[in-house]
Amino acid sequence: MRTFSADLHIHTCLSPCGSLRMSPRAIIQSAIDRGVDLLAVTDHNTAAMVEVVSHAAAAAGLDFLYGMELQTREEVHVLAYFDRATDCLSCAEAIYPLLPDVPNVPDAFGDQVVVSLDGTILRTEPKLLVNSLDLSFSETLACIRRFGGLPVPAHIDRAAYGVLAQLGMFPEDTACQLVESDADLPPTLREMTRMCSSDAHYPEDIGAARTHFRMESVSIVELERAARGEAGRFARCQCE
Ligand SMILES: [Zn+2]
Ligand SMILES: [Zn+2]
Repeated sequence: MRTFSADLHIHTCLSPCGSLRMSPRAIIQSAIDRGVDLLAVTDHNTAAMVEVVSHAAAAAGLDFLYGMELQTREEVHVLAYFDRATDCLSCAEAIYPLLPDVPNVPDAFGDQVVVSLDGTILRTEPKLLVNSLDLSFSETLACIRRFGGLPVPAHIDRAAYGVLAQLGMFPEDTACQLVESDADLPPTLREMTRMCSSDAHYPEDIGAARTHFRMESVSIVELERAARGEAGRFARCQCE
């Protein structure tokens, strides 16, 4: 069993709100500098950067999960984690047509660039990524699970794009054990387990909030087992 210092919510330069400095190398260097040894990149409604960052992580000896941050029809953000790149990419491919056909305006929203390891621009994503998919909250959870992924509602305590503010409550029968929150969970959600992450958009923010997961190995099944506190496992937040 090992305790991982995990930051599972990081945006790359592909997210329009993410800094252009968020290249694969910069993300990995920042994770190393801050002692983060398990990370996931979670761009808005796209997985086009997960593979290149996973290669950079592997080269540096860091553990990695493939991720995205999906936006539901009700403007709720849901993190999605996958063990395998192919599953994450298949899910991304399935949701892309459900993203409105609205072009990005870089001057208004920011650049959306797919880059190589060293930050060379390979292509520009034309559709605005920070938009709602044509999927409800429950359909989004189901979609993530259909591709073998683990859905984790993001920053549930925030006024913007958090499930509690957007839906007025946490829907029952979601089967979500792990939720991301900056604050302690309200008493009604005490059965769930809180995870903390940086939601970094700049290299210097990586690891500013993180979760220590004690697990056998890195997988979404182990994340869930840690969230349930099974057999010596745990998930503990650390917010700076
Ligand atoms: Zn978000
Ligand atoms: Zn985010």
